[in-house]
Amino acid sequence: MSDASEEALGWRVLAREGGARAGELQTRRGVIETPVFMPVGTLGTVKGVRFEELEAEDLDARIILGNTYHLLLRPGPEVIRACGGLHRFTGWRRALLTDSGGFQVFSLADMRRVAEEGVKFRSHIDGRLCFLSPEVSMEVQAALGSDIVMAFDECLPGQAAHEAARASMELTARWARRSRTRFDELQRDSADAGRIEEGANASGEGLKGLSGRQALFGIVQGATHSDLRRESLERTAEVGFDGYAIGGLSVGEEKPVMYEVVEGLAPLMPDERPRYLMGVGTPEDLVECVARGVDMFDCVIPTRNGRNGQAFTSRGRLNVKNAQWSQDARPLDEACACAVCRRHSRAYVRHLYMAGEMLAAVLLSHHNLAFFLDTMRRVRQAIRSGDFTRFRLEFIERINSGLV
Ligand SMILES: [Zn+2]
Repeated sequence: MSDASEEALGWRVLAREGGARAGELQTRRGVIETPVFMPVGTLGTVKGVRFEELEAEDLDARIILGNTYHLLLRPGPEVIRACGGLHRFTGWRRALLTDSGGFQVFSLADMRRVAEEGVKFRSHIDGRLCFLSPEVSMEVQAALGSDIVMAFDECLPGQAAHEAARASMELTARWARRSRTRFDELQRDSADAGRIEEGANASGEGLKGLSGRQALFGIVQGATHSDLRRESLERTAEVGFDGYAIGGLSVGEEKPVMYEVVEGLAPLMPDERPRYLMGVGTPEDLVECVARGVDMFDCVIPTRNGRNGQAFTSRGRLNVKNAQWSQDARPLDEACACAVCRRHSRAYVRHLYMAGEMLAAVLLSHHNLAFFLDTMRRVRQAIRSGDFTRFRLEFIERINSGLV
């Protein structure tokens, strides 16, 4: 563990109930209460939702994601570096987590070639040949200046056979070490550059927001094989990270299998570090995986499904395309206090969607994020007041009860 990393991220558990934990992450850009849901801002934007709205009281997102793969291809790290890092480039002032690019590269299937050194792949935009490795990923994420950086890993399909999953897990373990080494070099270089800069310019403005005090998370792989998952965890923890993520879930395996992997693995993860379940999931998944010991989540479904006309509600999913809502004057979710539900009816949102108005996607994305973020707010309150067991039962029962 380097000194730079210890400064970058503080973490403490405030309350527990069963396996569930309520805690607090201290980043250089503010405190993040956990369990937390992180909206995904693939290309430096949470699609359809302005930063003012993400910061407003009904959403109050404390941390969002950026995707290294997408930002590497467009606009490219040199543009973002020249604009002072991803925070300055986008205008987002709160915390940012960037993924390593591994997941996106591996979803390119036949457009990539994996070797010990790294991955060669063709851009999905213009077909040009690109290269990502642990070192390149750390360098790009340093240029982005995110608060939490993810190690570069290989992500296999959920159903991967034991032999293939073992080889992949071992590669991920070797890449974890290389990620750590390059990350530490970059943090040291940046700290040195920061001192020089401060000497020349008292404000040190030039480098604020860039690398120097980033945190680094390791990723546990091993598909659905519990022996490989345990070994991956041991080898990742041996390298030492500021937090630990479970990767390679929600990639095609059955839901009970995912819960089983999380249930077996999360309690073995270092108790004194935050645990992050990557790319998961539905509101039910969040609550169920909090119960199994997870602290951090991200997923594209609130905004992606919103763009496709689907609202998540406390009584399950509402499809605005359905004619039964055409004259319904009630809000998307009668239990929701978001800006959309306070003002607009199901009938209006449905009308916008059917007419192809872009505001439909904006309103549905806003409401869905509000529902996910509010669910996590209530999860945190429940754990802190020792009421999570009851909350979980009622939440799952209500969400399965169906819309009226
Ligand atoms: Zn709402």
